[in-house]
Amino acid sequence: YRATVLLLDQAGGANRQYLLSFRDQTEAHRLERMRSDFIANASHELRTPLASLSGFIETLRGPARNDEAARDNFLEIMQKQAERMARLIDDLLSLSRIEMKAHIAVKDQVDLTTVLNHVADSLKPLATNLGVEIERHIEPGPVSVLGDRDELTQVFQNLIENACKYGQSGKKIIVELKRAGESIKASVQDFGPGIPDEHIPRLTERFYRVSLETSRAQKGTGLGLAIVKHILTRHRARLVVRSKVGEGSSFTVMFEPQKLERT
Ligand code: ADP
Repeated sequence: YRATVLLLDQAGGANRQYLLSFRDQTEAHRLERMRSDFIANASHELRTPLASLSGFIETLRGPARNDEAARDNFLEIMQKQAERMARLIDDLLSLSRIEMKAHIAVKDQVDLTTVLNHVADSLKPLATNLGVEIERHIEPGPVSVLGDRDELTQVFQNLIENACKYGQSGKKIIVELKRAGESIKASVQDFGPGIPDEHIPRLTERFYRVSLETSRAQKGTGLGLAIVKHILTRHRARLVVRSKVGEGSSFTVMFEPQKLERT
């Protein structure tokens, strides 16, 4: 705790008034540490592709100057690194935009059937590319919640994209939307390798990745589920993760009853 003593008036003698206040510093310190850890991690994540770019530029200007085959190969790698930096920056900007809106209540009626169908349609090419079929079990709409359409679109985009990326090629993924009593459940299930238990509580941490190799190969930044968590907090919705190694994973978004508007 930090104690502050404030002199309230200039009157001298025994009538002088003071204000004594205490402030809990542990929470402030924790937040401050989280913020500086985040900046350190973000800088490191951006520095890695940047260092690789600098290295290739140097090689192209020097030893590989006249090596045409090497040049094509290096330029391709450089383009991938630049794309990776762009993805990181996009995700960082998304996080900061969402944080800025965290205290503004969501107020629009958003029909989840439209959002899920739209996202499933838009991710079909990626799914096909990865050999995954998206199966839909979506209630006939509308199934509305109070929310922010763009943010909810981003939630399901991240979850369905993850299911495609980390699911099993040749198997399907299931996108489901249903009413469960007064709640609404929207879930994305895959039949991929699953996630070992010890990683599950940490999945929504910024930059947390279960396997760096798989995530890198799948163009991951480790920010997708952190973005999902922030958006869902603003919507007072919960994310429930179930996973079994060797069987697959499901990510379920539960919308609270008081947020519903039955239509
Ligand atoms: P990324 O950009 O790396 O995909 P996310 O925050 O979306 O970042 O996910 C964090 C990590 O959680 C991923 O790198 C991956 O290791 C793991 N993960 C996420 N979704 C799944 C899934 N459906 N199956 C297995 N692992 C997953």
